[in-house]
Amino acid sequence: MGRKINLLLVDDEEQFLDSMKKQLDARGFNVIPVNRGEKAIEAARKMPVDIALVDLKMPGIDGEQTLRALKKEHQWMEIIILTGHGSIDSALECSRRGAYEYLQKPCNTEELLEVLKEAYKKKVMNKNKLEEKRINEMLKMSGSASSLDILSRLREIDSGLD
Ligand SMILES: [Mg+2]
Repeated sequence: MGRKINLLLVDDEEQFLDSMKKQLDARGFNVIPVNRGEKAIEAARKMPVDIALVDLKMPGIDGEQTLRALKKEHQWMEIIILTGHGSIDSALECSRRGAYEYLQKPCNTEELLEVLKEAYKKKVMNKNKLEEKRINEMLKMSGSASSLDILSRLREIDSGLD
């Protein structure tokens, strides 16, 4: 078994953080709970985050700014925006800025798991697509390179994509 899926959970409501963390830990995710956008950005620099669930309305930098900062630094991370009712316009704006999806709080667990599955699938497929592209380009350019050369370049590609 490899590592668990790292899920960054960002919300200023402590009760919501606690209950979501419990639910998602119980389903096998490694949940990193933080109550501010600033802390989310810090946490993502310290460990590889696969998916972030980000509340739209928070003191300090809001969900949209957090989304932008995370996307800029972590190209593979998929981000799901959480909204209270009445913030659909801002949530749609987040979709335009690269959020995978937005969900209304409180979240239905089954619906959330479905969205998490699709978001993680997208992340894995995007990484694999890039890997395939790099391999094809490398092979095209390698001309008369030896098998050992090609093996070592493949090794570089394989180790550089985490
Ligand atoms: Mg909030």
